[in-house]
Amino acid sequence: IKSDRESMLIVNSFAQEYFSNILFQHSEGRSVGLAYFHERGFRDDIIHKFALGYSLEQRDALAIEAKKRGYKEEYLLKTGLCLEGQNGYISDRFRGRVIFPVFSLSGKVLAFGGRVLRKSDKLAKYVNSPESEVYHKSNVLYGIYQAKQSIVKNDNCFLVEGYTDVLSMHQAGVENVVASSGTSLTPGQIRLIHRFTNNITVIYDGDAAGIKASLRGIDLILKEGMNIKVVLLPDGDDPDSFAKKQSASSFTEYIKNHEVDFIRFKTNLLLDSAGNDPIKRAELISDIVQSIAIIPDTIVRSVYTKECSRLMEISEEVLLREINKIKLSQL
Ligand code: ATP
Ligand code: MN
Ligand code: MN
Ligand code: MN
Repeated sequence: IKSDRESMLIVNSFAQEYFSNILFQHSEGRSVGLAYFHERGFRDDIIHKFALGYSLEQRDALAIEAKKRGYKEEYLLKTGLCLEGQNGYISDRFRGRVIFPVFSLSGKVLAFGGRVLRKSDKLAKYVNSPESEVYHKSNVLYGIYQAKQSIVKNDNCFLVEGYTDVLSMHQAGVENVVASSGTSLTPGQIRLIHRFTNNITVIYDGDAAGIKASLRGIDLILKEGMNIKVVLLPDGDDPDSFAKKQSASSFTEYIKNHEVDFIRFKTNLLLDSAGNDPIKRAELISDIVQSIAIIPDTIVRSVYTKECSRLMEISEEVLLREINKIKLSQL
């Protein structure tokens, strides 16, 4: 006898194969879905590697096919693949969208993301599976299954915002990459990365929201005792759009040349606006000191204290006194 969890995973696995088959074999799938991925420049090897798919426009295409194959309505609803309407009709959650399956660490299909094909005022750009017994968003990272070996090999993990950022980085040959998929980063997601490496490089979108999310991510990652670097992209670009403007090698060169530790990231970001204004400088120092105080390891903390002292031209003793004050107030 199967548990609900097992039945839900089986139905998800069926749906993943169904969406993929539609993408490559159905005329609507090919002319709409596959054409969309090709227009965005994604190669077929990447499409296969991430088991991408397409959901037909028809409101209950998946529901009908699933029931024909003997899958129970109960699990179509529990996974969120389908929704119950009035008068008992059930309809598909994903319709007329390209599909990104979300895999667990061991390759089980936990959830799906679906993207509209063109900008729309009526429809959300992305629709995602709801939380369920098999999908706990806060403990899942898009791409972890395809990335884990490369994360170990490189002893580093790139963290990006979106599905297509992960695809584009793989296509550029960077395979140690996962996405938080829009939701703000959680401790559970950081711990998932920590199982494979101590080092995270954040490459969020180069806009105000991306910078804000990077700043928030820094403190969470430091708290977990991991090392963090940050790459700031040109304003308006994300890793996907930026990678597509250039060759794979110049993209990876840019990353190498622009990754900085969190102190330099904050300094670069804030020093422009602070300039020589003493009050703004003091605010920046206090901001950096707050982050240093989060670091659990004494030696790592002292290394960053030294760097901050050098960059901000302020004595180490003063910084240490401030850091200790913060740590005491947290006891
Ligand atoms: P694309 O390149 O296809 O436009 P993106 O990944 O650049 O997508 P962003 O707007 O930067 O899209 O959002 C980052 C991530 O946040 C998306 O990949 C998706 O996982 C999630 N997301 C974005 N919009 C929504 C939404 N309306 N509902 C749920 N999740 C969303
Ligand atoms: Mn560690
Ligand atoms: Mn983006
Ligand atoms: Mn994008």
